[in-house]
Amino acid sequence: MNDPDERWASATEEVHPTERTDPHGALTTPIYANATYEYDTTEAPRGAHRYSRMSGPTRDELEAAIAQLEGGTDASAFASGMAAIDATFSLLDSGDHVVAGESLYAETHELLTEVYADYGIEVERTDVTDPDAIADAVGPETRMVYFETPSNPTLTVTDIEAAAATAHDHGALVVVDNTFASPALQRPLELGADVVVESLTKYLGGHSDVIAGAVATRNEDLAEEIAYYQYARGGIPGPFDCFLVLRGIKTLSARMERHCRNATAVAALLDGHEAVERVHYPGLESHPNHEVARRQMRDFGGMVSAEFEGGLAAATAFVSDLEVFTLAESLGGVESLAEHPATMTHQDHSNAELRAAGIPPSLVRLSVGIERESDLLDDVRAALAAASDAAPTA
Ligand code: PLP
Repeated sequence: MNDPDERWASATEEVHPTERTDPHGALTTPIYANATYEYDTTEAPRGAHRYSRMSGPTRDELEAAIAQLEGGTDASAFASGMAAIDATFSLLDSGDHVVAGESLYAETHELLTEVYADYGIEVERTDVTDPDAIADAVGPETRMVYFETPSNPTLTVTDIEAAAATAHDHGALVVVDNTFASPALQRPLELGADVVVESLTKYLGGHSDVIAGAVATRNEDLAEEIAYYQYARGGIPGPFDCFLVLRGIKTLSARMERHCRNATAVAALLDGHEAVERVHYPGLESHPNHEVARRQMRDFGGMVSAEFEGGLAAATAFVSDLEVFTLAESLGGVESLAEHPATMTHQDHSNAELRAAGIPPSLVRLSVGIERESDLLDDVRAALAAASDAAPTA
């Protein structure tokens, strides 16, 4: 998609996500810091809302904006990405079988293997980038195929259309975590997914100042189940959080354009360097799913991972030497961050779990921000020299 006007086609929707309905004509959505709403009589609430765990004007605006950006009919917002993911698993019943990707955010892995396993839900992990592997894994008990694309932290890319075709043949739902791409780059519902879930903490919020999540769908029954769960369990974001995400959404494509450009440059620099064994970036032709990414994404995103020749010592030396990139968990904010998955985000994984998720000790994950490209490249170049000088470890 070379025409920038086409590639960033959702920019207008992001700036003007919903019709303005504020009675005072406010240009931006006000923060309704309010718990309950007055009734005129016992049977007639005065307006559209009754109680803020159920709904409220600021959250309604955010949910409408997300439904629109994801190409869905409905969305429910949650207090975190994990609360949103948990809501998608609430669609399961005891005895159900879930096919999930091998590469998943650490807490999603924990939720499935530690929490939902106790509820009698059987989880089978497979290489969802291979449509044949999905076909082999799904069976009559399979209720859900769940994956991230691109995945955290190894940036594997799954063909959403192919996965949906296989899952639907077996009557299973497809749930896609769209956190790494964001709806500016990829709309899983338009490619056949039934439910899309994402951490709004990342690219939609965009400024590392809020924790929130959302689930979107175009299926009325699923939307109702998720909305009921949101109300009953109560893991909602507050109005100020909703306001922050709404504000972030207005610049999503503008930021994403620069994230993608900077990440492409960082990936190319890492790819050609002797200290680096392997770069994981869907935009590189050497990426095993590059063609799928080219087809289903508008651009290749701001996340880059790399494995270092010198093992753990080189990876640690690299992240410790960076100065413009901050050593921190999370991603998708304007500022560049670096992290070491084996000891940071995925620290609770056993060695066997790390191996199964494709996370060697030599792996570093970068969330490439929107700073000046040459400053980022100079920073990475200097840290690569530090990685080259580090004594190699296995
Ligand atoms: N999904 C992915 C792919 C993530 O990377 C994360 C967090 O890093 C989450 C979900 C969870 O989001 P939150 O931290 O907002 O709960």
